[in-house]
Amino acid sequence: EVRVRFAPSPTGALHIGGVRTALYNYLFAKKHGGKFLLRIEDTDQTRFVPGAEDYIRETLDWVGIQPDESPWNQGENGPYRQSERKNIYMEYAWDLIEKGYAYYAFDTPDELDAMRQRLTAARVVSPQYNAITRTQMKNSLTLPEDEVKERLASGEPYVIRLKVPRKEEIRLNDMIRGWVMVHSNTLDDKVLMKSDGIPTYHLANIVDDHLMGITHVIRGEEWLPSAPLHVLLYRYLGWEDSMPQFAHLPLLLKPDGNGKLSKRDAEKHGFPIFPLNWEDPKTGEISEGFKEQGYLPEAFINFLAFLGWNPGDHREIFNLDELIEAFSVERIGKSGTKFDINKAKWFNEQYLKAKSNHDLAQYLMEDLKKEGIDILQAKAEKIVNIMKERATFPGDLWNEGRFLLIAPTGFDQKIVSKKWNEDVVTVLTTFKEKLEHFKGEFTPDAAKSMLSESAESNEIKLGKVMQAVRLAATGVGAGPDLMEIFVIIGKDELIKRIDFALN
Ligand code: GLU
Repeated sequence: EVRVRFAPSPTGALHIGGVRTALYNYLFAKKHGGKFLLRIEDTDQTRFVPGAEDYIRETLDWVGIQPDESPWNQGENGPYRQSERKNIYMEYAWDLIEKGYAYYAFDTPDELDAMRQRLTAARVVSPQYNAITRTQMKNSLTLPEDEVKERLASGEPYVIRLKVPRKEEIRLNDMIRGWVMVHSNTLDDKVLMKSDGIPTYHLANIVDDHLMGITHVIRGEEWLPSAPLHVLLYRYLGWEDSMPQFAHLPLLLKPDGNGKLSKRDAEKHGFPIFPLNWEDPKTGEISEGFKEQGYLPEAFINFLAFLGWNPGDHREIFNLDELIEAFSVERIGKSGTKFDINKAKWFNEQYLKAKSNHDLAQYLMEDLKKEGIDILQAKAEKIVNIMKERATFPGDLWNEGRFLLIAPTGFDQKIVSKKWNEDVVTVLTTFKEKLEHFKGEFTPDAAKSMLSESAESNEIKLGKVMQAVRLAATGVGAGPDLMEIFVIIGKDELIKRIDFALN
């Protein structure tokens, strides 16, 4: 059975890259009839941010990807928070020590600093605690056995480090990148257990993936450098046969493709990078989320799915079930994907347009309620019917269509100075008279023929005055079909507005 996990650390708001990782894991699990687990990796208490876990949960709720097992939906492999699994890890660290793959190290922060300085002075580019330097440090490989026992017994602080071998090629077959080869000389003896008895990410992650029966690890490219270390851990713990397959997802890049997408890019260009509003608990600063900006969850996940994956044909609109059906790791790209907010908007427009007038009317009526305006469902449906072609977000239905319910009190002066002239006054005066005498059903066609006749009978070209006519009726220079607007405004109101504009 396929079992995958999303393993975020609650160190801040989950950003879109994280949501994409969750989504790809979910799609992969469902595609193969497997399970999608969520594990909270909160061993690093110094980086713990309150509210971050709730935020993860709310985000997954919003986009509709429910984990099969999680802290709030426990399965057989719990607990699902590493902070609640603390007592599990030590025995594996001891096991590694016993087998000679790990060791105790007693070096103080000052001693570690001194080592780094010494190496830097000797022009070593990235100083490491490794097969060479460890021979000069205070650890259970260099100290006599008795002394090690004594130090441990006296409660001296220590960490447990992985004994990375020298001169070994570590290979791993990544599902996206193919064979990745790393020389062990480039790795350092990573700390597995900290002095407070809490495991580091590396140990906890491998132990948990093993105990939870994880078959595939799908995660961001930033974890690729850690992967060789993880391969060593699987090997040394004796779990190489059941080691999960790795898939490292391509980076999300800045809009111009130059480097990794960051929160600062989002601020600079004014697009969201978080799924939901996030209030930074330290600064109180609020970053607006996709949800609050008016993105529909279906559009958001469709957009996310395409940030690094494509179905191999020209289809772009996929709901969650269709994504599951079409998804495959083989079609995930190796290179980074540029973040393009216009594409996100485009998806949102498609999903918005595809909604029924009945559903869209609910958004409109809600916005109207906030301003104390009450209208009938039927009228709301007429409004959204003409507004939806031009709307990106549900809020646009009202923001861009206010003139349909509220008469203009002023006019766009730029257009007035360019387009308002004697001909406009003539046409509008005639049009107003025709409206006053009109008895039939006021339809777009009826409005159109009255307006056309008003221009023709005065030997004026309608095209030349059209924008000014729109201005008179709406106060603005652009919008949906004017005849449709006339009908929604209604004949009597239209007459009043023309009167106001003419005076
Ligand atoms: N806790 C890690 C993170 O925050 C998980 C990385 C992994 O999936 O192994 O991304």
